[in-house]
Amino acid sequence: MVPITSAAAAPAVLRATAPGIARGMERSYGDVALNAGGTLWDTRSMNRLVSFDTVTGILTVEPGVLLRDIQATFSRQGWMLAVTPGTEAVTVAGAIANDVHGKNHATMGTFADHVTSLTLVRTDGEIVECGPDGDGESRGWFEATCGGLGLTGLIVQASIRLKRVPGPWLLAEDIPYQSLSEFFELSDSSEASFEHVVSWIDITTGGGRRGIVSRANSIPSPHRDLPASATVLGAARGGITFPVVPPVSLVNSLTLPLLNRAYYRLKRAGAGAKVVHYKPFFYPLDAIGDWNRAYGPQGFYQYQCVLPRENGLEGVREILAIVARSSQGSFLGVLKTLGEREPIGMLSFARPGVNLTIDFPNLGQSTLSLLSSLDSVVAAHGGRLYLAKDARMPVSLFEAGYPRIEEFVTYRDPGISSEMSRRLLGS
Ligand SMILES: Cc1cc2nc3c(=O)[nH]c(=O)nc-3n(C[C@H](O)[C@H](O)[C@H](O)COP(=O)(O)OP(=O)(O)OC[C@H]3O[C@@H](n4cnc5c(N)ncnc54)[C@H](O)[C@@H]3O)c2cc1C
Repeated sequence: MVPITSAAAAPAVLRATAPGIARGMERSYGDVALNAGGTLWDTRSMNRLVSFDTVTGILTVEPGVLLRDIQATFSRQGWMLAVTPGTEAVTVAGAIANDVHGKNHATMGTFADHVTSLTLVRTDGEIVECGPDGDGESRGWFEATCGGLGLTGLIVQASIRLKRVPGPWLLAEDIPYQSLSEFFELSDSSEASFEHVVSWIDITTGGGRRGIVSRANSIPSPHRDLPASATVLGAARGGITFPVVPPVSLVNSLTLPLLNRAYYRLKRAGAGAKVVHYKPFFYPLDAIGDWNRAYGPQGFYQYQCVLPRENGLEGVREILAIVARSSQGSFLGVLKTLGEREPIGMLSFARPGVNLTIDFPNLGQSTLSLLSSLDSVVAAHGGRLYLAKDARMPVSLFEAGYPRIEEFVTYRDPGISSEMSRRLLGS
């Protein structure tokens, strides 16, 4: 691991230690930030807020600043990140390199939609300034770097446009659904009047027969204009940590249906409106430290795909049927629709369609075979897998899902290589 502590130091360090790949908080589930036996550049100590324009909301930061620090610092002043993933323990550079998305894709797009400029350092020492509004060359670098998996250069500075919010609170609602068609109707109708829409789905029932849509909007204060029935859920104080790695996964074929049923009943019992601090709504897993330990020493795979909307219902139904027959999976199934915006990045994931995410405890070959059958459904329906979550997809599925690969490779830095790039791009 090679720490890089300033933009000024970066060119010399990169030249001396390449080839390598940058790492952030390593919250990616696959091999995008891995480089076994090779160099990992660590920019986490470059974590200064450089400047903030209170008129435009443009915040300039170093790459290692955590989304958590931005949210905590600015939400009290009426600003927040426009797009945030399901954990705030990630770096700004990591969020850009995977062009992450949140629960508000229909209205806000992806993280890169709110990045106004980037500074990159290449391993030959070249400095590249780029942004969405620059000339063709600048725009090209920007589209390659957002979602570019750290392969175009080291991000040393970024400017992001924050969004005005009335404060850190949301008025949220949970609504149970009993079929996939009902999910689509509920999701579509919610998007008209709610910024954040996401659903939990019970992946054990075969056809998506049970789930909960959660939808929310920011509100000015937890105590104004509340429905009489609303409860208030604050930011967790301290949180809990999963204490040990159990010898086997606690999520298995015996516990899986029970966990899903219990989770559904719990959520259904609490359905209705509540006032929620942004932390439990946006980042529920952040309240449980080392939650991944529940999967035991072999760990788990997360499978995340997006299917075009026209094939979405049929494709999701097929995937859920295969998963239910396998008796593998977890109780963390997420189904959400993604809006009409095409992503900026050449390798960005979040295209228009329907997104399904499922965790699978790693049971070795049987899990890999299951994931291969899911790949066939994704390929047959014209979908793609999320690179931030992948460590195994076949090159054919990568190439079919990401039509701008040829353009992307022209921007690669020859001194940067990761396990993922070697696996999917050959170097
Ligand atoms: C609980 C949980 C929930 C999540 N929910 C979502 C979600 O809702 N939506 C979503 O899109 N993602 C989600 N993710 C995935 C996560 O947001 C992304 O993987 C994110 O990119 C991780 O950032 P990181 O700082 O950990 O970077 P890492 O995982 O360490 O690295 C990610 C990429 O950033 C690159 N990188 C890091 N620093 C630099 C730098 N200085 N210059 C250039 N490249 C750099 C790395 O090379 C790598 O390609 C979730 C992850 C978890 C654990």
